[in-house]
Amino acid sequence: MSSNNTRINIDSHSRIVAEARHNREQEEKTYRARALKIYPWICGRCGREFSGKKLRELTVHHRDHNHDNNPPDGSNWELLCIYCHDNEHSRDEVADAYDGEASSGREPEQSSGYRPFADLENLLRNKK
Ligand SMILES: [Zn+2]
Ligand SMILES: [Zn+2]
Repeated sequence: MSSNNTRINIDSHSRIVAEARHNREQEEKTYRARALKIYPWICGRCGREFSGKKLRELTVHHRDHNHDNNPPDGSNWELLCIYCHDNEHSRDEVADAYDGEASSGREPEQSSGYRPFADLENLLRNKK
C-alpha cells in the first residue's frame, strides 16, 4: 500500500512539473500573441514590416528585461526583429561594462523618438 502511494505521488509530481513547463510555454506564446495584437508588426528599431512567415523574425522584447513582467496593456513590451533584438541586448551588455557616470545619466530611450509610424504617415500622405 505504501509503495502504491509513493508511485501515485511521483506520478502526480511529474504531472505538476509537466504542467508547469507547459504553462510557461503557453505563457510565452500568449504574451507574444498579445503583443502582436497591441502593436503594429513593425520592428521598433529598424522599422521593417513583418507579415506571414517573416513574422517569426519579429520578437517581443521586455523593456525592463524582466520576462515575468507582462502588464496587460503591453507597456513593458516592444516588438523588435531578431537582429535589432540581438543588438538591444548586446548594447546593454556594453553599457554595463562601462558602468560609470554614463549609465547613471542615461535617458530613457522612449524620448529619442520611438515613432514607428511617423515615416509611414509621411509616405502615405505624399502618395496622395
Ligand atoms: Zn529591426
Ligand atoms: Zn529582449
